[in-house]
Amino acid sequence: GRPTPMHSIDPTTGETFATYDTLTPEQIEDRLQRAQTAFGTYRLTTFAQRAEWMARAGELLHERKHELAALATREMGKTLAAALAEVEKCAKSCQYYAQNAEKFLADEHVTTEAERAYVTYQPLGVVLAVMPWNFPYWQVFRFIGPAIMAGNVGLLKHASNVPGCALAIESVMQQAGFPQDVFQTLLVGSRSIEAILKDDRVKAVSLTGSEGAGRSVAGTAGAAIKPSVMELGGSDPFIVMPSADLDLAVKTAVTARTINNGQSCIAAKRFIVHEAIYDRFVNGFVDGLAALTLGDPMQDTTDIGPLATPAIRDEVHGLVQDAVQKGATVLLGGQIPQGQGNYYPATALSDLTPDMQVYGEEVFGPVALIFRVPDQQEAIRVANATRFGLGSSAWTNDDAERARFARDLEAGSVFINSMVASDPRLPFGGVKASGFGRELSRHGIHEFVNTKTVSIG
Ligand code: NAP
Repeated sequence: GRPTPMHSIDPTTGETFATYDTLTPEQIEDRLQRAQTAFGTYRLTTFAQRAEWMARAGELLHERKHELAALATREMGKTLAAALAEVEKCAKSCQYYAQNAEKFLADEHVTTEAERAYVTYQPLGVVLAVMPWNFPYWQVFRFIGPAIMAGNVGLLKHASNVPGCALAIESVMQQAGFPQDVFQTLLVGSRSIEAILKDDRVKAVSLTGSEGAGRSVAGTAGAAIKPSVMELGGSDPFIVMPSADLDLAVKTAVTARTINNGQSCIAAKRFIVHEAIYDRFVNGFVDGLAALTLGDPMQDTTDIGPLATPAIRDEVHGLVQDAVQKGATVLLGGQIPQGQGNYYPATALSDLTPDMQVYGEEVFGPVALIFRVPDQQEAIRVANATRFGLGSSAWTNDDAERARFARDLEAGSVFINSMVASDPRLPFGGVKASGFGRELSRHGIHEFVNTKTVSIG
């Protein structure tokens, strides 16, 4: 029989508004062959030519932002304002790599006993991108910028709940003028990934998603000896010390927890607060969360839209209920609202203990976990008491404390006095169960290249 179709389902109503056929094994084979063929000529194009196409992709994203943003909002429920900002960020990242890729990958001359020696960076070939729905454009464009500018060819296996966004990205790339098949979207379920990744024509994989998906795909890549980049979950700490600007810390904490309806890998998830300012911070934070508007993500008065799927809401609520049963205090929220849609209110929990599932798991929804600590040492211990190590944010105006946070937090990034955010100019990635490898900046473009030594004479 034919493979199961994919659906676009409106998270505010549960209604299916579009259905797509997924690829048959024969169609997958055809796409792989076309990708391989495209690489044969694309690898020989100049940086100047690629930069022209990439810059055009950036312009198209800007020109089509209203259509693209509305599609993301309908498919996964992020607010329209957030979706517009996401598309603009993609546009900027395309421009950034159009302008910088050649410089990042310039040959490096090295003095040895040879007549001449240099290091040159060459594309690997067809790279598979397995991507999540939460930033349906940004996750993909932060792969596209570096990978495609380096001369690789891309195959996108996007999350099954955003097929419309997946096809829209392919259309932007075609419209930008990239040669046929340099970037293809494969509408396939996650069960098809293993065979695709094992195929000789596929040389590497980049995955952004959950820890479970990462274990599975990194395992396949490892067994096939193919390089991989893993951008997995996070349970980022947000630490507040007595010297912090409390008003700014409170305001930023509210945004950092609820950004993208609480479904961001680098959302602040655990708020670790020094006892000297605990009450002031927590009162302000809970008031700030309580003031947010939950509702239709298309409305510009909405701060928090629905979660992307009913399963995600069930998971978030299950974690909250488990904590409550084991003695957590509910400072705000914690109840599923009446009516249709996958809505979940801003929620704050305190009195958390290690036997609760929330203590160790990533909560992918607008649920803040609050911890009281007596000093910096304990703040760092609590912050590091997780399998994850993606981002971290710490608030202090004390130089010695800043230096210690920068040194001791086990994370891919430490942001002092601001929330964690990705930026094309800075490397992005994690340690521990948050993954390995880096995206963005000069580091991201070096992940999918052959660092080739050439020695002459
Ligand atoms: P997900 O369920 O892991 O899905 C991500 C992608 O992996 C999808 O394309 C999915 O395909 C596929 N997939 C799922 N299970 C798989 C498996 N066992 N084997 C192979 N592929 C599999 O994650 P999500 O719910 O879309 O996204 C949320 C997660 O992503 C969170 O944990 C979040 O922290 C993480 N994330 C990390 C970053 C980062 O940069 N570190 C950024 C954003 C999100 P199907 O949809 O077809 O199942």
